[in-house]
Amino acid sequence: MIDLHTHTDASDGTYTPEELVNAARDIGLEALAISDHDTLAGYDRAVPAAAAAGLDLVCGIEISTRLRHARGGRGKSVHLLGYFLNGGPTPEFRAWLEELQRGRRDRNRRLVERLRSFGVNISLEEVEQLGRSVAGRPHFARIMVAKGYVSRLQEAFDLFLGEAAKAYVRRDEPSLEEGVRRIRDAGGTPSLAHPGRLSNDHATLERLVAQMVGFGLPALEAYHSDHNSSDVAFFQDLARQHGLLVTGGTDFHGGNKPGLELGSVNVPRACLDSLREAHR
Ligand code: AMP
Ligand code: FE
Ligand code: FE
Ligand code: ZN
Repeated sequence: MIDLHTHTDASDGTYTPEELVNAARDIGLEALAISDHDTLAGYDRAVPAAAAAGLDLVCGIEISTRLRHARGGRGKSVHLLGYFLNGGPTPEFRAWLEELQRGRRDRNRRLVERLRSFGVNISLEEVEQLGRSVAGRPHFARIMVAKGYVSRLQEAFDLFLGEAAKAYVRRDEPSLEEGVRRIRDAGGTPSLAHPGRLSNDHATLERLVAQMVGFGLPALEAYHSDHNSSDVAFFQDLARQHGLLVTGGTDFHGGNKPGLELGSVNVPRACLDSLREAHR
């Protein structure tokens, strides 16, 4: 049993890195990748805990990118995972993550103002207390529930925070090409996160994946908690057609995704072995 997609409280999970490592050990996971949004702080903190627990810990990241349309416009939001099989990435990559975090903080400031214009009073301090360096919309959602502006996390997204909702504010995001290039240059393997979220339509998914393969994408996440068994078969087949590596994980967020258990997606151990093989 392995899980290659998890979040700690360094981004939008609720488990500390130590708690996540201990939970992985307790359920007998053979390997765990921490793939926080825009930060390696959780992975860095988990390294000694994993050594103590005898757990195979993989350095990962999840980055929000944009896949531009040929016809122009803003394009699609695409999450990109990156795996660094030989420990961490280069210092240049870490510096780039800091740049992304600054862009996020600027977005959060504007989001606070926009929410205020709709009568929702949340301060940047409150948000950053929950999310620290990578405070994001899930933290806004939690505070909105706690303060009674909405009754559920999803309602916060539907009414205010989602891309189609009234308080949505844009953030400068790197292009998918740039994300792929940065991860590869830093010694990592990029993998398309939860591709099932991009479209419900197979022809569209085939077109999007072909486009990304053209940008140098070497892997996709066929196994994910959002994918049912026919989705998994479809993405395995798509990966085979393009000669892509396959990754998988739960996308565990602790209490921020209630009901989703660590290690609950059946990810073959061979996924990790192949990733490592590709790195040699
Ligand atoms: P951020 O990186 O701060 O823009 O927040 C992105 C995160 O918010 C995603 O990883 C999801 O966990 C969550 N999210 C974004 N849009 C939605 C939505 N429409 N419904 C529920 N969760 C969402
Ligand atoms: Fe998340
Ligand atoms: Fe994601
Ligand atoms: Zn994730």
